[in-house]
Amino acid sequence: MFTEPQKERGWIEVICGSMFSGKTEELIRRVRRASIAGKRLIIFKPVIDVRYAVEEVVSHDRNSLHSTPIESAAEILPQARSAEVVAIDEAQFFGEELIEVCAKLASMKIRVIVAGLDMDFRGNPFGPMPGLLSIAEYVTKVHAICMQCGDIASHTFKKVLNDQTVEVGERDLYEARCRNCFNLGLEEMKKQVRLDLK
Ligand code: ZN
Repeated sequence: MFTEPQKERGWIEVICGSMFSGKTEELIRRVRRASIAGKRLIIFKPVIDVRYAVEEVVSHDRNSLHSTPIESAAEILPQARSAEVVAIDEAQFFGEELIEVCAKLASMKIRVIVAGLDMDFRGNPFGPMPGLLSIAEYVTKVHAICMQCGDIASHTFKKVLNDQTVEVGERDLYEARCRNCFNLGLEEMKKQVRLDLK
């Protein structure tokens, strides 16, 4: 389990993993602890994540904290100047500019906690996440349980066939899978597509 470093300098922490891996729960845990420590903090999330509530960061188990919905990463710096801790949830939905924004915040001696999906449903690195993982001081990869075989899961499998990467959904659209079950699922999907074309 991640324990906060006792430093007054800024740094970047990234929490990544598939859907249903507990990323937001871990973000909320860290933010709560920072709050107990009396830190001035602000939480951002992309407007696109309207899963449950516009101004809350909500995990799948309904744990929640107040957050500021923003359209782009450029809105973070002007609002974060007086913060000691900045948390960003669903970071994969922001553009590449988030990487530079996080680096700037850390240079301003701010602790930056970022949570996001490291891979999209095709199994490719997602948005700014690979860049953030590279520049972060601390990286925590959390794992879900494969909903097919019960093994450790690091992939997000999309059960519905269409081409949209940015789609916020729940258990009806996605499931966590291990690499093996993810690959088997993709093969099945490809077969279905071929059948549909006939
Ligand atoms: Zn599996």
